[in-house]
Amino acid sequence: MTSPEKIKSVALGRELNADDIRFLLSLEDPEEIRILGALAYEVKKENVGNRVYYRGLIEFSNICSKDCLYCGIRKSNAEPRRFTMTALEIIDAAMFAYRNRYGSIVLQSGERTGKTFTGFITSTIRNIRAVTDGKLGITLSCGEQSRETYEEFFNAGAHRYLLRIETSDRELYGKLHPRDRYHDFDARMQCLRILKETGFQVGTGVMVGLPFQTIDHLVKDLIFIREIDADMIGLGPYIEHSQTPLYAYRDQLWPQKDRLMMTLKMIAVLRIMMKDINIASATALQAIDGFGRERALKYGANVIMPSLTPRDHRKDYLLYEDKPCIEEDREECKDCLETRIRMVGDEVGWDEWGDSLHFRNRKL
Ligand code: SF4
Repeated sequence: MTSPEKIKSVALGRELNADDIRFLLSLEDPEEIRILGALAYEVKKENVGNRVYYRGLIEFSNICSKDCLYCGIRKSNAEPRRFTMTALEIIDAAMFAYRNRYGSIVLQSGERTGKTFTGFITSTIRNIRAVTDGKLGITLSCGEQSRETYEEFFNAGAHRYLLRIETSDRELYGKLHPRDRYHDFDARMQCLRILKETGFQVGTGVMVGLPFQTIDHLVKDLIFIREIDADMIGLGPYIEHSQTPLYAYRDQLWPQKDRLMMTLKMIAVLRIMMKDINIASATALQAIDGFGRERALKYGANVIMPSLTPRDHRKDYLLYEDKPCIEEDREECKDCLETRIRMVGDEVGWDEWGDSLHFRNRKL
């Protein structure tokens, strides 16, 4: 077993290099992993505090023009009933967040371009700002768009944008997506750059435990996140979906509990590497372990995204299978979540935007 002193000296010594990260991600003994998590939790408390910020998640449309090989709502899957919430339904969900002091929402959809769709998003942002006196923080997660469209969203009042890269390795990216011009690694990287130039707080993220993925890929992902200087990150375990092409490789996957543990280690190492960013505790963690999201808080995460998608639509927005809280009412989610957060020693940042301190510190 590696000594606690060795783990501590690697984790909290110099700026982590690839060897250090590989060493930490390779810890396997539960006690060693617990020590890593405890170090990350201390770094979190010292740098961003123990407040957890809510992002009420409104998955407002599952119509997508893309065909990512891992995703349950990919264009070629005929099973989900396709939907787009009306403007009133979205505003109702946003008002729930506002009334219940969530502080922020995330508007998420499948990826579509075109004026009708992007104009709908722009007017929805404006409407939400109007009915909440500009007090509700708005994050968007609506995929790759043009510079003009990103500027339009930003000027309408959205201030954070989440665009997951899923893997920073070009070759692995090619195995997760159809090899055509609509699924272009470089285009996605370019969008991340444009989002930053536009003024957004920019988030990205990767999946952990993908077929073909090695620890070296994950080391590269963490270095990539540091190099692009992301403000917020979502890290979640890959969970297979039977109606996707990648399901054919399920025999090659790590057991789910190993994907969960690797995700927790990734969160811990990232918190140590980037002390003042926001790290979301992905809902996918809860699909593997009923207490997975709360465990992630103990490893350094500080953001949670409770679902505000109407119950009728949730079963049609399954990027992966076994997604939790499909049947729970949003009122039930709210009460249950606060209790769970308190149980791990954190508290909810009610009514706060909980912006990325990293973004603010960079601007100073
Ligand atoms: S991952 Fe996103 S872009 Fe890809 S198919 Fe799913 S919803 Fe569409």
